[in-house]
Amino acid sequence: MPVPAADDGRRTYELDRAHVFHSWSAQAALDPMVISKAQGDHVWDADGNRYLDFTSQLVNTNIGHQHPAVVQAIRDQAEELCTIAPSHANRARSEAARLIAERTPEGLDRVFFTNGGAEAVENAVRMARLHTGRHKVLSRYRSYHGSTSTAINLTGDPRRWPNDTGTAGVVHFFGPFRYRSPFYSDSEEQECERALAHLEQTIAFEGPATIAAIVLETVPGTAGIMPPPPGYLQGVREICDRHGIVYIADEVMSGFGRTGHWFAVDHYGVRPDLITFAKGVNSGYVPLGGVAISDEIARTFDERPYPGGLTYSGHPLACAAAVGAITAMRDDGIVANAAEIGATVLGPGLRALAERHPVIGDVRGLGVFWALELVSDRAAKTPLAPYGGTSAAMRELTADCAKAGLLLATTYHRVHVVPACTITADLAREGLAILDAALERTDAHAA
Ligand code: PMP
Repeated sequence: MPVPAADDGRRTYELDRAHVFHSWSAQAALDPMVISKAQGDHVWDADGNRYLDFTSQLVNTNIGHQHPAVVQAIRDQAEELCTIAPSHANRARSEAARLIAERTPEGLDRVFFTNGGAEAVENAVRMARLHTGRHKVLSRYRSYHGSTSTAINLTGDPRRWPNDTGTAGVVHFFGPFRYRSPFYSDSEEQECERALAHLEQTIAFEGPATIAAIVLETVPGTAGIMPPPPGYLQGVREICDRHGIVYIADEVMSGFGRTGHWFAVDHYGVRPDLITFAKGVNSGYVPLGGVAISDEIARTFDERPYPGGLTYSGHPLACAAAVGAITAMRDDGIVANAAEIGATVLGPGLRALAERHPVIGDVRGLGVFWALELVSDRAAKTPLAPYGGTSAAMRELTADCAKAGLLLATTYHRVHVVPACTITADLAREGLAILDAALERTDAHAA
């Protein structure tokens, strides 16, 4: 039976409240917006109100909503072959793997497919452990790596706190972050130098020969969109090489155009050993993630079986969507558009907002991947919501933007400006204007 025809949204809402158990939420207080359709940069609620989507639905729809080439690719694949076990070969899977391998740094030529980001992280860690014969994994405090067992323990963000099982061998360290420097540094250069020295020291005290991998978001996403200082990732690469540690770049959020390159590591000229991806690979039209694997690590499993798998690994519908999305992104210059919009509209526009609004403490990002830190006191950098929590001021800002037709993403005391890579300059400016007006009220919370 097809999904019942569109109603006024009341039935959908009531069924949701009665039967759907939502992520990351206290269920009783929930009041989800019913989204009935989407197109390009916009979504519509069940009352017909249109919203400019500055969230990309959890930084996912890099190609925008309902891109015709991707929808068609899924349709065609559904007609041809909906599913096949991972042990067989399939055209959609083979072509998706080729298109991904062509875009990763040289020497990462194999792809293990998963259903999303957390599973990609789980498998990357498993590969690193088996490759090195070591068990410890290091990750930074300000990070998010997914909500499954190892991935949530690797996560440094407060979402780990209620989930932490204290997985043996997971060790956190501080990464570079100029605005709230854990190293009390005075410059980007000093921040980089001290962050690398701190990592070296963490490794020395943990025992280098026990460490399988370092997992790093190239540009940490939900933990605050913090592009690393120049030289930091090269330094991490060098440290990993010296100690025989596998460098895993988590590009689940930063990959596939988000930062204005296919992968964020392209900005920094580093070659990780493993890259985890999901989201933008097919804009989430069908769940897909994976691990791009260096030739050296792939060879570990030439004779010895890889002891892991997923029924839906390389699902044809998801892979067909990836082929459609990557091809359209390539042919339509969508990655270059993300870079251009970041450099000419979002970056300058958000910095201009910071000049007008005392509540903005910091602006940072690149491509279509930007964060504003909102503070009640600029000098003291007092966050407008507690670490790991929210506040009336943040909720009010999101609600005011929604009333004015803008879907805005916030995490704790931060606004994340993360539209699709396809956004036009005019729509980006329109969204910034709505945010500008809404921030007038938020300024009242600033000293
Ligand atoms: N890693 C990063 C960097 C992410 O941003 C996310 C999701 N936001 C994940 C892993 C987990 O991905 P998923 O939700 O698809 O499991």
